[in-house]
Amino acid sequence: MSVQREGGCTCGAVRYRLTSDPLFTHCCHCLNCQRQTGSAFVINLLIEADRVQLLAADPQPIEVPRDDGSKQTIFRCPTCQVAVFSEYGRPEVRFVRAGTLDQPSKVAPDVHIYTRSKLPWVTLPDSAPAFEEYYDTKALWPAASLERLEAIMAPASSDA
Ligand SMILES: [Zn+2]
Ligand SMILES: [Zn+2]
Repeated sequence: MSVQREGGCTCGAVRYRLTSDPLFTHCCHCLNCQRQTGSAFVINLLIEADRVQLLAADPQPIEVPRDDGSKQTIFRCPTCQVAVFSEYGRPEVRFVRAGTLDQPSKVAPDVHIYTRSKLPWVTLPDSAPAFEEYYDTKALWPAASLERLEAIMAPASSDA
């Protein structure tokens, strides 16, 4: 089932539409996400970049250092600076911040990751698996999502 999802920043300059369901939804409890959001965790919808349709202003990419020395690109509204999505070294996949959806309550995490730094007062539900660090995508993602991932990664590997 494909449900249209729309969202945007606080001032309304950036608006986006997800043209399909996400590949998978992460709830990340790592220290980077806690610092970036100023909160307990972030909820990211992983989806192909070409399925994030921009309806108004283009979010501005900002390179942000991570604790492991890598870089992450956070896309922010050029006006109000609210972060709408991120990219982690693979431009084919966007990590859309679920809190920027018009209806964040429509989304629930498929997995909790980096629970080693989960705040102690956050209690996780039994309905989604949880991992101290990361997890094996192939073991957890639905077959349809793995096929979609393979489809967008294929051109990159043939270039190599
Ligand atoms: Zn804005
Ligand atoms: Zn994180």
